[in-house]
Amino acid sequence: MQTELPYRGRFAPSPTGPLHFGSLVAALGSWLFARQAGGQWLVRIEDLDPPREVPGAAQGQLSTLADFGLVPDQAPWFQSARGDAYATALDALLASGDAFECHCSRSDLEASGGVHRRCVGQARAGRRPAVRLRMPDVELTFLDRIQGEFRQDLGREVGDVVLRRADGYWAYQLAVVVDDAAQGITHVVRGADLLDSTLRQVYLQGRMGLPTPDYAHLPVVRDSDGRKLGKSLASLPVDGRDPMPALRAAWRFLGQDPGQLPAAGAPEQVLRTAVAAFDPNRAPRENSWQSVQEK
Ligand code: GLU
Repeated sequence: MQTELPYRGRFAPSPTGPLHFGSLVAALGSWLFARQAGGQWLVRIEDLDPPREVPGAAQGQLSTLADFGLVPDQAPWFQSARGDAYATALDALLASGDAFECHCSRSDLEASGGVHRRCVGQARAGRRPAVRLRMPDVELTFLDRIQGEFRQDLGREVGDVVLRRADGYWAYQLAVVVDDAAQGITHVVRGADLLDSTLRQVYLQGRMGLPTPDYAHLPVVRDSDGRKLGKSLASLPVDGRDPMPALRAAWRFLGQDPGQLPAAGAPEQVLRTAVAAFDPNRAPRENSWQSVQEK
């Protein structure tokens, strides 16, 4: 008999700035799904890209999460400390022939719209190769809990994915697959901007003999005209000193009944009520920032 693994979810912010409304939605959404299933909730800091990292951002995000009552069940993992695990995984993929070294530059791939199917670049002195995952010509599908069926032709639409960049940094796609498995993540709840990355991760899990978690992609925060938010209220940092307005807005954004949440109270207390009232089936496929503003 197969024993069901206990639910384990996670929130994986990139430390590129303070926590904003979009990241609060992903944090709260992943927390609510996990807690309602009686599961654990972990936080993993994706500090893989030092040039894009803002000093102090990771600690700032963690302390803002705590202000909202969102406290992980284990000490957060930092991907910057996980290089050995990624190197071991990459070595195995190189040894099996699933991964290969590649000298193609961005401009080499312009003619193919950035999609890598075979190497066209030359080795250059002083430049390390990137390492890519060999993608087959295969169409894969998966069933997302919120977004429904998602289909992608990996070879044609995605091409050979970078696992280690030419500048030596680890790529997100490798790190996320290694760490979701290493942390025993059974359910991934995150923003729908990552829907497009999911089948790369599913394919890589298969090649590495790792389990595939369940996926639920929350709506991306958009303006009412459908554009992804740039410089607007929703991209401003959420205020940890006054968490209730943003918490209520995130709750509504997740399609939940605002009448179920107390108007005030300590965040921990409000969250306890929220878990009991949370209805995962109400989470919408799309939503806009304007629609959740209280009049
Ligand atoms: N770091 C990504 C983000 O901040 C999330 C990656 C993931 O959840 O897999 O959007």
